[in-house]
Amino acid sequence: MRTTEYLIATQKESPAEAEIASHQLMIRAGLVRKLASGLYTWLPTGLRVLNKVKEIVRDEMNKASAIEISMPVVQPADLWEASGRWEEYGPELLRIKDRHNRDFVLGPTHEEVITALVKNEISSYKQLPLNLYQIQTKFRDEVRPRFGIMRSREFIMKDAYSFHIDHESLDQTYQRMHQAYCNIFERIGLEYRAVIADSGSIGGAVSHEFHVLAESGEDDIAFSNKSDYAANVELAEVIASGERLSANEDVKTVDTPNAKTIDEVALQLSVEPEYCVKTLIVKASEESAHEYIAIVLRGDHVLNDIKASKHPLVASPLQMASEDEVNKAFGVNFGSIGPLGIACPILVDRSAANCSDFICGANMDGQHYTGVNFDRDVKDYDVADLRNIESGDTSPDGKGTIEIRKGIEVGHIFQLGDKYSNALTCGVLTESGKHQTLQMGCYGIGVTRIVAAAIEQNHDKFGIQWPEAIAPFKVALIPMNMYKSQRVAEVAHRLYADFIAAGVEILFDDRKERPGVMFNDMELIGIPHSIVIGERNLDNLQVEHKNRKTGEKQLLNIDEVVAFIT
Ligand code: ATP
Ligand code: MG
Ligand code: MG
Ligand code: MG
Repeated sequence: MRTTEYLIATQKESPAEAEIASHQLMIRAGLVRKLASGLYTWLPTGLRVLNKVKEIVRDEMNKASAIEISMPVVQPADLWEASGRWEEYGPELLRIKDRHNRDFVLGPTHEEVITALVKNEISSYKQLPLNLYQIQTKFRDEVRPRFGIMRSREFIMKDAYSFHIDHESLDQTYQRMHQAYCNIFERIGLEYRAVIADSGSIGGAVSHEFHVLAESGEDDIAFSNKSDYAANVELAEVIASGERLSANEDVKTVDTPNAKTIDEVALQLSVEPEYCVKTLIVKASEESAHEYIAIVLRGDHVLNDIKASKHPLVASPLQMASEDEVNKAFGVNFGSIGPLGIACPILVDRSAANCSDFICGANMDGQHYTGVNFDRDVKDYDVADLRNIESGDTSPDGKGTIEIRKGIEVGHIFQLGDKYSNALTCGVLTESGKHQTLQMGCYGIGVTRIVAAAIEQNHDKFGIQWPEAIAPFKVALIPMNMYKSQRVAEVAHRLYADFIAAGVEILFDDRKERPGVMFNDMELIGIPHSIVIGERNLDNLQVEHKNRKTGEKQLLNIDEVVAFIT
């Protein structure tokens, strides 16, 4: 590529709203441009990087036997009504109407669409397991889009969904996806951690996040220096935030599937906590004078139904509240409510007759974070001791000490169980001819976010330092004063042709610019190798190589240059 036939688009300044390095550098290096809040255009250089990331993700997905498809961005509301998320999802879900006044959403994720698809396409256990993925645009109306494409409203996600006859098969694919994710982040060249995570609004119980470690990360990651133990402290914050209610309180989060009344919540908690939407329960301790349990439920329908039920457990249902109102009402920060928006705080009188049933059902024995799935897959120590954890503490698994670092969530995998297959009746006939609901897993990667996360880990004061695997070009060819020196021009054109013949992605800076301008642009863009052609070194038939990451310079003979790079 010649710069004269390309759109370089570098600029000196970045907008005041660009608080973090990747946002500033993506603007300054000419990778993206903002159209409106959370909406970005990818310029040629940015798109080249993005495509590299996509290709690595696609390759590892294919190797892990996932199969690529493409689903529509616009999804009919009735699927979301069937899954219960039309009500649960909150304002992050952008709802639109067509000309016939029918409701649609811009897909923030695709569980409903894929489940409806598989329901129609798969009829026998013989067709399972099946893992389908797409690399495609998502829309989430984020409360606070920020950091450029790191938290945008429109972004590209790789989302995969797997379908299984039983939990064992789900477990196998989940492990395979976990490994594929490690391969992806290693190939890109990122320092990352896989951590135990909260399964949030997607539901289900077992879940891991993949975090790129960087100071600008929004999450705190606790990990051991001696073992594989790593967890998102967010898990513990959900638990610990309740402590501020009063001194000795014991707080647990539990999951409740689409429960509409407090009775349903209680019932589901004691029966099948794995089909869940999150509920936060704050339990007063045995000694506590205030014998209350505070429950935060999601969805306005929940509170209305609870009020109508006049349930003996509900001492004082508060008004339906926004996330802010809930936080104010309890004087705590229930950070995890976020995506679902509306919540209902309820104070439950613990002295009420049937209260103990409720507590038992919620598995409040201090041992487990949620119900059955956690018993099986996550050890007690994974979450039990995360509260108030600090760097230097002994690791919850007893191996090594804890380090806490900031992380950027670039991937998230879940075992969904049958939350969606149950709601949308997606099943197959088993070997014995019985209808069986499928087990599902889902696996997301923030493809666009990876680009920003990579910059957070790879930059200096002069610009980006791309890891080679995702660099927009491998080599920058910088001829000094080519329009004055016949000799420089000749060597530049010859090397350019040689690099192209060798299949190397090269950016030939053939602009009529001062060398300083070219150096600055190529450093800002972050191309891993520069080849500088100057009169003086040509006397010895040499050119200068500069490594962007290390800053090392060395002279190379002209006829060795291509071999040196490849
Ligand atoms: P976050 O906690 O950052 O809001 P999330 O947990 O809501 O992310 P998931 O539903 O787990 O996101 O989606 C899978 C992946 O999509 C995330 O791990 C992240 O890398 C990416 N992602 C989510 N929201 C955004 C966004 N607004 N902009 C860019 N990437 C995003
Ligand atoms: Mg989110
Ligand atoms: Mg998250
Ligand atoms: Mg997530």
